[in-house]
Amino acid sequence: MAEKVSGLVHRSAAQDAIMSEAADILIIGGGIIGIATALELQTRDPVSTIIVLEKESVPASHQTGHNSGVIHAGVYYAPGSKKAQFCREGVTATEAFCTEHGLAFDRVGKLIVATHEGELDRMARLGQRARENGIDIEDVDQTGIRQLEPHINAVAALLSPSTGITNYRRIAEVMAELFVARGGVIHYGQRVISCDEGPGSVRVNTAQARFEGSVAITCAGLQSDRIIQSFGHEPGYRVVPFRGEYYRLANQPEDLVQHLIYPVPDPERPFLGVHLTRKLDGGFTVGPNAVLAMKREGYRRSDVSLGDLAQTLSYRGFWALLARNAGSAASELWSSASKRAYLSKVQRYCSRVTLADLTPYPSGVRAQAIAPDGTIIDDFLFIRSDRCLHVGNAPSPAATSCIPIARFIADEVATLSAAG
Ligand SMILES: Cc1cc2nc3c(=O)[nH]c(=O)nc-3n(C[C@H](O)[C@H](O)[C@H](O)COP(=O)(O)OP(=O)(O)OC[C@H]3O[C@@H](n4cnc5c(N)ncnc54)[C@H](O)[C@@H]3O)c2cc1C
Repeated sequence: MAEKVSGLVHRSAAQDAIMSEAADILIIGGGIIGIATALELQTRDPVSTIIVLEKESVPASHQTGHNSGVIHAGVYYAPGSKKAQFCREGVTATEAFCTEHGLAFDRVGKLIVATHEGELDRMARLGQRARENGIDIEDVDQTGIRQLEPHINAVAALLSPSTGITNYRRIAEVMAELFVARGGVIHYGQRVISCDEGPGSVRVNTAQARFEGSVAITCAGLQSDRIIQSFGHEPGYRVVPFRGEYYRLANQPEDLVQHLIYPVPDPERPFLGVHLTRKLDGGFTVGPNAVLAMKREGYRRSDVSLGDLAQTLSYRGFWALLARNAGSAASELWSSASKRAYLSKVQRYCSRVTLADLTPYPSGVRAQAIAPDGTIIDDFLFIRSDRCLHVGNAPSPAATSCIPIARFIADEVATLSAAG
């Protein structure tokens, strides 16, 4: 008799111990990119068979479920980049998806604040970039800041009215529910351990099962380089995990700020800086900083994987990155070790926040793709082979951009299928 385990039908002991299942398309990874892609492909071709393989027991367990929840407008990204294009399109697509499915979002707007004269040039360049990207952006002077945000100390700011907040874990869950309700299959608890791309099909093995598809798409987030390697390809980068630590603010009034408050980012760093974020369920978080994680999917300071750590420390790209960014790495590490140092990053623009306000909040871990020479791979990266499309680098704002990314992948997969 067949029994159902982890969403798979396992045959009895008298039959093969390992089951196998075939589909038109296999997708590895049930984060927001894998699930949005599954839904997009199914919408385009409702009769195609699509299987998503996810190693955890629920969708969105990693980056998608541990982020700032910001719908980025697209201010920061290099004009002409995939990030700039997909993020701009992603705002509209995310809001439309939330509206259609009754999911919460709020277009609260964002202020990017210069706290001293020395930041004004950088802020002006950022405003220029936003305009080149076709993003609605307004200059705000000190009087304007006082009117908009009386608790914020800054000499000037950029206002991005179309920045918003949402809950990406919830969006991914609803996308997964829709995909399954329309006949798609998600197998949870299935960690892909090996893959074989042959001339006629792609075979994927987990500990419990074998799967075969005409094409495969990998969206493995923090494991993306390893999955690409398991297909026999060299991704050209390694993932270096950076933990982003947040605090939730206690003791502050609901009207502390109306907008999201971001510092002017340092162009030398890939991260946006510790920001003050309004949450959909009320209150505020501050964060995230960016410290090296000892484990790719380790959310606590004490989480260590000797294997992950050894891979990071033996990668020359990591040491090259560190050599170039020793100062900022030390500052981030100090902000992790000392709550007071963390607080000083927030107090630069909001002096009302005190040490007693910083209460624990779950961290996230970013998958940062680093080239062997230490260069941070900034843009979204997709790697194609005959029968596979690999999502190599999908950092922020990939949650905002998930629907346009899914459309792009579906276009690419159509060309793979046509060629096959
Ligand atoms: C701290 C932080 C803050 C962020 N803030 C924002 C923000 O405000 N706005 C925004 O747009 N973006 C933000 N991002 C970025 C955004 O969260 C990610 O870009 C996005 O979630 C990436 O989605 P993903 O599906 O590629 O990866 P993930 O969500 O990490 O999903 C990958 C999935 O693959 C699965 N997987 C991996 N290996 C295997 C295997 N061998 N077999 C089976 N399954 C496997 C994993 O279990 C996981 O579920 C933030 C990220 C972080 C970490």
